[in-house]
Parts: sequence; C-alpha cells; structure tokens
Amino acid sequence: MERYEEWDVSIPPLPPRSRLYRLKPIGIGTPYVESLTSYIMRLAESHCVTPQALVQREIFPLWNQTGTIQNYSSWFSKFWWTGSPVLNGVSPITAQWVQVLQTLTSNDNLHFLTMLTWSELIGVNNLLRRKKAWCPRCFQEWRQNRQIVYEPLLWTLSAVNICPCHQQTFVTLCQHCQETQPFLTRVARPGYCLHCMRWLGNNLVSSSTETMSSITDTFKMHQWQASVTSELLAAAPKLLGPPSNEQFAITLNNYLKDYARGHINVLARLLKLPYQRLQRYLQRGHVPTFDSLLQLCYSLSVTPLEFTVAGTISSQETRQFVLDLLPVLSSGKRKHLTDDDVQRMRQTLEFVLEVEEGDPIPNLQQIAQRIGYHVNTLRNRCPDLCHAIVMRRMRIGDDARNQMRQALVDALANDEPLSLKAVAEGVGCSCASLYKYFPDLASSVVTRYLERFDRERIRQRLQEVLSGNERTPSIRELARQLGCKHYFLERNFHGLYKQIVLRRRRERRKQYQDRMERTYAEIREAIMELHQQGIYPSRRRVVKEINKPYALRSKEGLEVYGRVLKELGYPTETIKKVGFGKN
Ligand SMILES: [Zn+2]
Ligand SMILES: [Zn+2]
Repeated sequence: MERYEEWDVSIPPLPPRSRLYRLKPIGIGTPYVESLTSYIMRLAESHCVTPQALVQREIFPLWNQTGTIQNYSSWFSKFWWTGSPVLNGVSPITAQWVQVLQTLTSNDNLHFLTMLTWSELIGVNNLLRRKKAWCPRCFQEWRQNRQIVYEPLLWTLSAVNICPCHQQTFVTLCQHCQETQPFLTRVARPGYCLHCMRWLGNNLVSSSTETMSSITDTFKMHQWQASVTSELLAAAPKLLGPPSNEQFAITLNNYLKDYARGHINVLARLLKLPYQRLQRYLQRGHVPTFDSLLQLCYSLSVTPLEFTVAGTISSQETRQFVLDLLPVLSSGKRKHLTDDDVQRMRQTLEFVLEVEEGDPIPNLQQIAQRIGYHVNTLRNRCPDLCHAIVMRRMRIGDDARNQMRQALVDALANDEPLSLKAVAEGVGCSCASLYKYFPDLASSVVTRYLERFDRERIRQRLQEVLSGNERTPSIRELARQLGCKHYFLERNFHGLYKQIVLRRRRERRKQYQDRMERTYAEIREAIMELHQQGIYPSRRRVVKEINKPYALRSKEGLEVYGRVLKELGYPTETIKKVGFGKN
C-alpha cells in the first residue's frame, strides 16, 4: 500500500491579537522621536477614523474604567482645546494614557514618545508648549521624500525653539490663515492646519531666522538647547532605567564640592540661583523645571545628559597606581633590619622612580605607609633614593603648577569664556586643584564664564542701540545704564563700541548742521525785518535781534550776513575787512 504524506492540521499557536492595529512609533532612539499626540493622530488615520472617534470610543472608556469622570462632554471640550499637551509630558495622566495605548496596540515602548523617562528630574511646570510649533522645512522634506509625516516630541518642548536639522526657528502660526494649532483636535492630521486644512510645510527660510542669522548669542544658546535636548531624547531608550532624583542631588553635591568648596552661597551665586532653591535641589526630592535644568547645565558647561546620567565628577588628584603596585614589606612591628630588608626597600623605591618623568608619584609618607616602614627608616637607609623622589615630586609639582597657571591665563585671554571644568580638563587636573593653587585666577575664570549671560545682555543692548531709531546715547551714558565702565565696553565689544561711537558722531554732526541752518535762516529773517523798518542791519543789531551772540562769529554765518546785505543793495566791502572780529 502506498503511503501518503500526512498533513498536520492542528492550529499553530497564535500570539494574542491586539485590539487596534500595532502601528510602529517613529524614531525611537533618535532625536526625532515621535510625540504621543502625533502617534494618536496617526493611529486614528491608520484606522480611517478621526482622532475624536479613536479617543472617545477606544481610549477614553479604557482609561475611565473606574468612572472617575462623570461629565463627559465638559471634560472632552476641555481636553480638545487645552488638555491634550500633557500627553507628551511627565504627568500621571501621561503614564495612564501610555498604558492604555500600549494595551490597545500591543506596543511596549510608547513611553518613549513622552518625557516620562525624565519625570524624576524635571518639574511639570513650563515643560510643554500649549500650542504646536513646527519646522515647515522638515514637513516639506518628509513629504518630498515620501516619508511618513509626523510631529516629533522635540517640537512639543517649550525650551526648544529651533529645528536642529535646519537651524531655523519654529513656526507657530499657519502660513495661510495665521491661526495657532492645538496639539490634538477632533479632526487633526500631522502636517495640516486644523482650521483651513491646508499644508503647513514649505521650503522657505523663516524670516525670524534671517534676522537672527548674524548668529547672536541668543541664537547660539537656542542651538545649544536644541542640540542637548535632542541628545537627551535620543538617549532615553539606551538607559538602563530612568535616572533617579537621588542621582541628580548627588551630582549637584559633587559640583558643590568641586566648584564652591562646599559653600552653598558661593555655588548659588555662580549659578545665579536663589540660595533656598539650590538648597532644596541639594536635599533631594525637589526638581528644577526643564528650563532651569538647561540653564544650570549651561552654567556648568555640561549637557543635561552628562549631568543626569553620567553625572559624577572625580576630584581625585593623583593617580594612585604606583602606590597600589608596591609590595607590603613590613608588618609595621619594630625589628632589626637585615641587609635583605634594606635591599628590598631599595628595590621598591627604585621601582617608584622608574615611573616616567612627568607622571605623578606618591610622596615618601604615602610610600612608607604602604610598605609598612616609618618614613624616617626610609630616609636613614636609602637617603639617595629618598632625595631623588623628593626632587622628582618638586619638579612635577612645579611643572604642573606652571601648566595650570598658563592654562588659566590663556582661558582668561580667550575670546570665548571657558568654564573652569574645561580648563581643568585641558590640564588634566581637577577644578579643586586649580582653586587650591590659584584661587584668584580660578575665580576670575569662573566669574568671566558666568558673566557671559550678562555679556549677552550687554551685547543685546548695544545691538538694540545700533538697530533702533532713537538718539544714540554716549558710551559713558550706556556704560552707566549697563552697570559697567566705558572701557569694559571698548575692550569686550570692540566692534559694536566703534559702530556706536561713529553713529553718535554722525548724529551730532547732523544736529550741529541743522542748528546752523536754522541760525542762518534766522539771520536772514532778522536782516529783512530791520531793513523793512528802515534800520541799517548792522551786525550788532542782527545779533541782538536773534539773541545769539555767536551767530556771526563763524565764517559761514558771516557769509550769509554778507550775501543778504548784498542782495538788499548795502555796501559789503567793510564786512570782509572786519572778518572774525568782535560784533
Ligand atoms: Zn527642520
Ligand atoms: Zn490654516
């Protein structure tokens, strides 16, 4: 009998189905990760329903299972107009909606579409925009390249003002109808205006960017904010877990030690934070707003990611490796030293001296402690080697200190203010050592670095003076207004300073000319009047008439006088002879 192949007709095990289509979120692990509100819009679109239908029929019932919200209609009208931005943030509602959407779609990574990863570090206040902001060029590019059009999480944060891709400021009004856009509405599609339904993308360079294109400090600050925030969003899925509030406090405490030698008031002054607020941050449990976190990181010249995740700084000065490699030669008990003991002692000290010239080496006390002898025993038994070690340490000390001093002096001469940490890293030492050996230079570096906010304010004011139509004030007047000396402006803002001086000079010259024109007109008028009254318009009379004793002392004034007299038929030969004499 022929045997036929047997078919397995049992049903293969199927993974559980999800209620909604398992739409994949865009850009997780990149700076351009999608926002949750954008995901909801796209999810609705993929089911060919409006966001209203999706939210009201699927999400809301699951979220409101306990029936906390009774008055649906008032809750919904509030939600569509003002409530939706929180979905991208750090609030408990965000977490609940993420949970609901994960259940509905069987995705398990939707919390990356919100700021939930950072919820222990960032306060709720001021984190999110209330209305949408977008980069029209990003939209346009995605459409042209036939990519999915969506709205990144980065655009929802109020601290980010420019597109890191196109380096232009976000747009917040529809280019067609000039209306703002709420985050989620009953009928919304990514990339389209919800009022006039027209496309929001274009290839234009926004006008506000053009005016800022001189790369002002504000623009630089915005660039920095956009780039470090991008870094933060991209890093979220790569972390082992969300960074804790405790880590934040620990890091800040480390900075307190390194930058301010433990004085809270000093650090508060450096960071320009109120004392009490800094104290709260240091004590754990209190978190800054995202703005403040960025500001704080900018002051410390670290990125928020470095600060919150990698955030510990080492204040260890000497590398300890040599010490760790030394053998323990004695238990420390008094005993008679044999020749062998001395020989081993010598070998150990020679080993220490084999370290390359320039590398740090431990001091005699440390060596003695490590190998188990008293330091005097070392000195007595191996005087030559001990002397060599001391000399080597002195050389290294001098070299290192010279280097430190030079780096600090260079930093002060640098056009861009550098942070103390950057200087310390450049030399390869800690901020604490810089402070220890050169307290004055180090604090000048720190002050200069922190003053760069003030410098920005001053630069803005100077630019304002140059671009405005008001009368140009004198440099001294400006310096007084800005609370600095006029030579500070000359030294630090030379270009702007010069432009202002020239502008003021031009203005003053123009004013003088106008004044003289008026005077000449008055001279003419006075002469005519005297002439009509039948009085000879002598210089004395004219001057008296117009009440300006100096009017006829200038060459030009005199010329006008002569010309008018000539017109009226008076003899003018005598005038020239009198010249610049008294009236
Ligand atoms: Zn863009
Ligand atoms: Zn519109």
